[in-house]
Amino acid sequence: MLLRQALLHPERPAIFDGDRLHATYGQWAARSSAAAQRLRTAGLQPGDRVLLFAHNHPRYLELIWAAWWAGLVVVPVNAKLHRLEVEWIIDNAQARWGFVTADVASDALAGLERQIDLDSSQAEDLLVPMGPPADIPITGRTLADTAWLFYTSGTTGRPKGVMLTGRNLMTMSLTYFSDVDTVTPQDTMLYGAPMSHGCGIYAVPHLIAGARHAVPASRGVDPAEMFALGRTIGPVTTFAAPTIVKRLVDFAEHQGLDAAQAAASFKTIVYGGAPMYLADIQRAMARMGPRFVQIYAQGEAPMTITVLAREHLLDAQHPRHVERMASVGVAQSSMQVRVTDEQGRDLHLGEIGEVVTRGDAVMAGYWRNPEATAAAIRDGWLFTGDVGAMDADGFLTLKDRSKDMIISGGSNIYPREVEEVLLTAAGVSEVSVVGEPDPEWGESVVAFVVALPGVVLEGHDLDAHCLANIARFKRPKRYVFVDSLPKNNYGKVLKTELRQRLKAGPSR
Ligand code: AMP
Repeated sequence: MLLRQALLHPERPAIFDGDRLHATYGQWAARSSAAAQRLRTAGLQPGDRVLLFAHNHPRYLELIWAAWWAGLVVVPVNAKLHRLEVEWIIDNAQARWGFVTADVASDALAGLERQIDLDSSQAEDLLVPMGPPADIPITGRTLADTAWLFYTSGTTGRPKGVMLTGRNLMTMSLTYFSDVDTVTPQDTMLYGAPMSHGCGIYAVPHLIAGARHAVPASRGVDPAEMFALGRTIGPVTTFAAPTIVKRLVDFAEHQGLDAAQAAASFKTIVYGGAPMYLADIQRAMARMGPRFVQIYAQGEAPMTITVLAREHLLDAQHPRHVERMASVGVAQSSMQVRVTDEQGRDLHLGEIGEVVTRGDAVMAGYWRNPEATAAAIRDGWLFTGDVGAMDADGFLTLKDRSKDMIISGGSNIYPREVEEVLLTAAGVSEVSVVGEPDPEWGESVVAFVVALPGVVLEGHDLDAHCLANIARFKRPKRYVFVDSLPKNNYGKVLKTELRQRLKAGPSR
């Protein structure tokens, strides 16, 4: 894919470091192919694993494609992991070489044969072009071979290595073009969120389309910088977890930016990875205009389970518009999606059960973990662990992860429903609802609430708001007011940590 772009359009700008051009497509291919040749000469064999443990970086993209040119498997890991966690992954993946940045790995990581700092002259030496990229052979791999080993962010237990194959990445990319967004060479993918995760994988469709790729100079999410970069290098596309969307909207609101000004910076904001609450997407669209698309996916089926397209978000005349905005949309065109009971039998429309999916975006399995693979993929269907319901038009609404469901007095309570309601109460900024062991009810509902700046919230006001909006048994028995919610690197609220806090003692 990279060589094809480089041969067709060598002069096209490809990678930006902030607003500065880092490489054209011709240069990118020349650099990645040269690095591939040097990796092979150094003894790396097709199928060997190469680790990336770094903050976002323009060379991240060059090294991923260098590895693929040489037939290697990339293992990009979360830059916020503890070194012991990374060393566990190095051992599990049997990674041979590692590319790092000094801020995340200043010392040598155990288990690597060679560790190279992305900012070092060693990294640049590896990438210095050796001649026309077409002269450097691409190591033949099949679409069934693993290309990307993605360690799930799993908030409990050991991470599992999701084997993403060439076919997974290709299906995901082609489905992106048909279902999520059109991409032209003038478009730019902006990598604010971590490239080791959902955001980085957007490089594949954007490379296929010959678009541009920009890594912010700050190497992370800074709303002011993201708005400014969009204005300078052209409206950008980005992937944002709901918390990042919230930060962008807060910034726009604070600066008094309207939808037209947002349009000058952003073409498309794809959001997903965690629940987007109705009140939040309504506010985002009112402030930033029609530039949102939602995807629902997981590492095991990257970017590609369902989509809530721009036109669905905009179809305000539709009688079920509001329900649709709170849904995750419809099955992407390369995937089948069903809602089943515990035995994998189809449920009726509207009934709540586990979401299962099948299609060419589903992983090959977990790396060297046949038991976990057999538990996740049954009869060809991936059991997502997410709980939801399908409506008559095929729109899927997620309720929760199955383990997040609360059972109180024998009734199932889906925290998401309670969170949606609390977010519409005056003065509430963020909320997360979990279950707490209760001697009488089994579990009782507890809401952790973050107030908007300057607002003092009262439990009884929130209780009255719940009573006015949802069944009595669903309303929190207790409110815990906090300054912020614990989140992982990808913006997901760590409900396990909230539950642990409750176990640890009263209040906070
Ligand atoms: P990961 O494998 O780390 O990408 O996490 C995937 C999980 O994030 C899914 O199984 C869902 O629980 C959650 N998730 C992903 N996309 C959405 C979405 N659009 N709305 C709600 N939850 C989501």
